[in-house]
Amino acid sequence: MPHDPVVTEAVREAAHLEPQFRFADQEALAASRLAAYHATGKSPNVLVILFDDVGWGDFGCYGGGVAVGAPTPNIDRLARRGMLLTSCYSEPSCTPSRASMMTGRLPMRHGLLRPPMYGQKGGLDGEITFAQLLREAGYVTQAVGKWHMGENVESQPQHVGFDDFYGFLSVSDMYTEWRDPYFFPEIVYSEERTKWVENLPFNRCFVHAVKGGETENVEEVTIPVLSQLDQKWTDYSLDFIRRMAPGSGGAEAGRPWFLYHCTRGAHFDNYPHEDFLGRSPAKHPYKDTIIELDDIVGRLVRELEATGQLEDTLIFISSDNGPEMETWPDAAYSPFRCAKGSTWEGGQRVPGIVAWPGMIEADRATDGLFSQMDLFRTVLRLAGAEAATPTDRYIDGVDQTAFLLCPDGESTRKYLYYWLVNVFSALRVGEWKFMVASTSDDDRDCLNLGGFTGVTQKYTHGRLYNLYLDPKESHSYMIRKLAYIDSFTGGLRDHFMSFGAYPGKHPIAAMS
Ligand code: CA
Repeated sequence: MPHDPVVTEAVREAAHLEPQFRFADQEALAASRLAAYHATGKSPNVLVILFDDVGWGDFGCYGGGVAVGAPTPNIDRLARRGMLLTSCYSEPSCTPSRASMMTGRLPMRHGLLRPPMYGQKGGLDGEITFAQLLREAGYVTQAVGKWHMGENVESQPQHVGFDDFYGFLSVSDMYTEWRDPYFFPEIVYSEERTKWVENLPFNRCFVHAVKGGETENVEEVTIPVLSQLDQKWTDYSLDFIRRMAPGSGGAEAGRPWFLYHCTRGAHFDNYPHEDFLGRSPAKHPYKDTIIELDDIVGRLVRELEATGQLEDTLIFISSDNGPEMETWPDAAYSPFRCAKGSTWEGGQRVPGIVAWPGMIEADRATDGLFSQMDLFRTVLRLAGAEAATPTDRYIDGVDQTAFLLCPDGESTRKYLYYWLVNVFSALRVGEWKFMVASTSDDDRDCLNLGGFTGVTQKYTHGRLYNLYLDPKESHSYMIRKLAYIDSFTGGLRDHFMSFGAYPGKHPIAAMS
């Protein structure tokens, strides 16, 4: 019988670590499987493929795919070769999510509460990334594609743990929206305003950088260049995978590696590559981009196979937040309420596929809680580098090794905490979500448009949603379920107290 997360106690193993479940049987099995793998002298490669603004419902394995005019056979096939997570969580928007995955810490701790735009200051500097810790453990670390964790020099990838970076430092729309007369005629048709944008303190090019060095411009991101970015970046990653293969003759060949491949797609505005333009049954730019992303996953996985590295590589595929519905109808299919920018499920519940053929059982679908922050401690453990976990700061990610490596593994995470920028919003345990604040309930704010619209409202009495019976969070159950109240308020108390001992920092504050 699986353990009930509502009634099972989580263990706090150290003051700076998020409490988690340690189920003796699965911990023992996972430890022995991992020890057997390490006994071969190898450490697993890690490939993270992170999409931008792609919704939970976009892929076939989540009920989208052919049903919504954009087949995703490669992603669906990979899901069948590993674990399909139905309760995988990001933060509500790009930068907070990316920084949380990279540091294992909530935005309220690392301080990147919202995305820096057009060269605004602030970023990752001062944080410890798992890329940095893997590199110190002997990994070759490569970042490709979208960064968006700070454009300032100290926060650039080559200064926070990556040996090499090839991509852009900010976010897709910033490079092109002001160039497109459809969206910004008042800038395109004004020389004065075009000059003004060009003088804003952001780099209009995508760049290349190597560890400790300065960025070098590769090419200005005009609209035609933007449409080719995902192909250029994929070629770069494919080359990296080939060079790292044992026996390839590359200088670093055979060393373990971490490839952080972040796509441009499918963030607005999508200008599909000519090979994909109009190729989706939906013939919509967003859907054309989804089939391109699926094709990219297929190419990366095939390269791992062709170079004999698939069975030595942990693959994690996800999105950095829920669908962007302010650009309706890009990602209009979702079983959840609201969208990117909110703490309703539509904002933070994202696709999550984990595969490692031979080590992670195939054909598993699980609703166990998984936060992208959990990658931090889990990957360090898989790499045999868990001793490098920082002790001078609070780590919100838990160790999910046993969840992944055991055929019937259960999630080791008890609570999922939702923060709406700097306002605590909700806590999930089991199928229950206890909510004390969120984006307004106005239909215009939560049924179609994203959570960046509307107002934040606090609920005097709190609300309780059953996510199995009511995934759209339409009906508070609180008055009929008061028996649970202590377990929610207890979880909240411990969470808030952790900020007393380990206060957060706020280099990028809430916009208010
Ligand atoms: Ca995003």
